[in-house]
Formats: sequence, C-alpha cells, structure tokens
Amino acid sequence: FAPWDDPLAEPLIRFEHITKRFGDFTAIDDVSLDIYEREFFALLGPSGCGKTTLMRMLAGFEAPTEGRILLDGEDISAVPPHKRPVNMMFQSYALFPHMNVADNIAFGLKQDGLPKAEITARVDEMLALVKLEPFTKRKPDQLSGGQRQRVALARSLAKRPKVLLLDEPLGALDKKLREETQFELMDLQEKLGMTFLIVTHDQEEAMTVADRIAVMNLGEFEQIAPPSQIYEEPRSRYVAGFIGDINILEGTVSTHLEGATFSGSDLDDDVAIEGEGLVSGPAALAIRPEKLRIALDEPNDAEGVAKVSGRVWDIGYLGDVSIFHVRLSDEICEGEPSDPNVPVIRATIANTTRLVERPIAWNDKVWLSW
Ligand code: ATP
Repeated sequence: FAPWDDPLAEPLIRFEHITKRFGDFTAIDDVSLDIYEREFFALLGPSGCGKTTLMRMLAGFEAPTEGRILLDGEDISAVPPHKRPVNMMFQSYALFPHMNVADNIAFGLKQDGLPKAEITARVDEMLALVKLEPFTKRKPDQLSGGQRQRVALARSLAKRPKVLLLDEPLGALDKKLREETQFELMDLQEKLGMTFLIVTHDQEEAMTVADRIAVMNLGEFEQIAPPSQIYEEPRSRYVAGFIGDINILEGTVSTHLEGATFSGSDLDDDVAIEGEGLVSGPAALAIRPEKLRIALDEPNDAEGVAKVSGRVWDIGYLGDVSIFHVRLSDEICEGEPSDPNVPVIRATIANTTRLVERPIAWNDKVWLSW
C-alpha cells in the first residue's frame, strides 16, 4: 500500500482548500493536497501556474488568503518561517560569496546557536553526504555550478528539516549534470528518509524523481498521481499534452452491450476501446507515439488491433529512435499538403536495425497499428 492509497494514513503536510489572491488576481484557486512522510512529491506546471506560490505558503513566506496548511496535523498558519521544520533551497542557491563551503553550510546552525562541536560534526556529515570534502575551504566562485548546487543542498539539509523544498533546484545545470543530480537527489532523499517537495516545469525531471506528481494549470490541480499513471492514464487533454508527446484523433464513442467503440473520419475502421465510465458522445482518442507499430503491409484483422493508414511525410532520425510523421491521407508529398486539416500522426520507432536497412522511406504508404 502506498500511503496515498491508504485511507487510514495520516499525511505529513495537508493543504486544505487553499486559495491565494494577489489583489484581484487568483494565483491559487481552492486546492487541497496531502503529502506523506518520506514522499518525493513534484509540483509540475507551466510558468505562472502557481507552483512557487504554493511552496512559499508552506515555507511561510506567503500567507494563504483562504484555507489552512497543516503539518503533522497542526495548523502552522501562525508559525513564522524560521520556526517551521521546513527548509527551502532556492533556484539561485543564494550562497554567501565571501564565505567558504564549510562556513556556508554552518551558517544556519550558528544562527540557531548550536554548540560548536555539534556544528562541526554536522558540517562534516553534510560535506560527506554531498561529496564535497575536498572543497571545504573554497569560496562559491571557485566551484562549478554542480558543486555550488550541492553546497546549497547541504546547507538546506544541515538543520535537519522535516521537509525540504526545492524550487527548480537543477535549473542552472546542463542537461547531463542535471540528469546525474536527479539520481543523487533521489538517493539522498531515500538515505535521509526525508520528505522532499520539488517545483519544476521540466516534465522529465518530475517523472524521474517523484513518487507522485501534481500537474498544475492556472492555479488548480489537473491530476495528482504517480508518474506512470499520469503518463498512461492522463485525466485530461491538458495533462496528456503536457507530459510527453501524444497524438490526438477526434471522433465519437459509441457504447453497446458488448462494449464500446471509437469511430472517427480519420480511422479506417472503428476501434474497440475499454475503460471505466465510458459514455456515448464526442471524444478524443489519444495515442502515445511509442505505442505505435509501423508497417508497409496492412496488419491482420486480429482482435484488438486498431490501425490507420497514411503516407510518410517526414522522418526524424534521433539515433535511438526515429520519429515518423504519417499523414492520414493517400496524397503524395509534393510541397504543401492540399488539405492542412488532415491529421499527422507521430510514431516513435526504435532503431533496432541500422538505418540503411530500414525498409520504410519518405512517401511510402504505411499502416500504423496499436
Ligand atoms: P514559474 O515557473 O515561472 O516560477 P510558478 O508556477 O512558480 O511560475 P508563481 O510564481 O507561483 O508561478 O506565480 C503564480 C502567479 O501569481 C503568476 O501569475 C504570478 O505573476 C502571480 N504572483 C506571484 N507572486 C505575486 C505577487 N507577490 N504579487 C502579484 N502577483 C504575484
């Protein structure tokens, strides 16, 4: 049982009907969310959707206009930021330029008046944790971006908060370092048994690190679920389109005694579909590009195989995969398509054989099936 599936589990953090207005503008619109101990939770959404505002309210830098935030069952509205067992690591890292690595990490502990021996012990522990022992005496400007990021992380963790808030923590790192650091963050979170809440607009980052993701749009949650569920069972077109690539075909669902079918003018045949709560009416069929197969020959009418035919209008070679753009019409590609409204389906096909051996080329008539 994951705690979020367990009706008896008590959340560590509870956002209860939170609304936040800045003047007339509603940045957060009546959202509720439970986050559990030891969870790595991601708030994901486009710029301006309210991710940072939500996090800042938990840290205590902003007060909700309406609603309550509970920590361990207690309302923390009246608790000032520095007294909350919550620490925030900022995008800019906000390191003190004149202090060396060790002093940067020790700063908060000194302010709290911890005994000297305790501070030294904790700083050493943190330096080991983020593998920065060789750099203790360096100043921030003598470190790489990744190292600075680790100092900031160590400093946020030194006070042993219950919850670590990470606001776009890897934004300044290049792609490769970013990916490495994502795995380091996951290791760290697991090792420390802490609750991490990360804000990001990078869907791959959220998918990689998080146990659950809340996809946000215009101050509201569109879906809250583990990454695989968000990807495989997106609750709305918005979520489907925001996470990964997806093909959308418009059509109609018809329910019968034996089940349900989907029909659309772009489909060669009706497609059998399954799902809970299906009702007849206009609908969209959404297919991930990597779930498709591509072939020159029409696939057999085996049960459960759905298919569309079209012509290859483009092939993008990415090394590990190629992306085929298949236009659902018989028209040969010669410059601009005659009807711009004909859908183009993207199929991502693994390059398991060498490109030169691949039989499918531009303008071939192909069948896509799933
Ligand atoms: P980003 O990824 O760009 O940081 P975000 O999802 O974190 O975006 P927020 O910073 O939470 O977004 O902002 C949400 C909305 O609230 C934005 O439209 C922003 O302009 C507005 N907002 C945030 N802080 C204030 C403020 N102090 N005064 C007025 N409006 C604000």
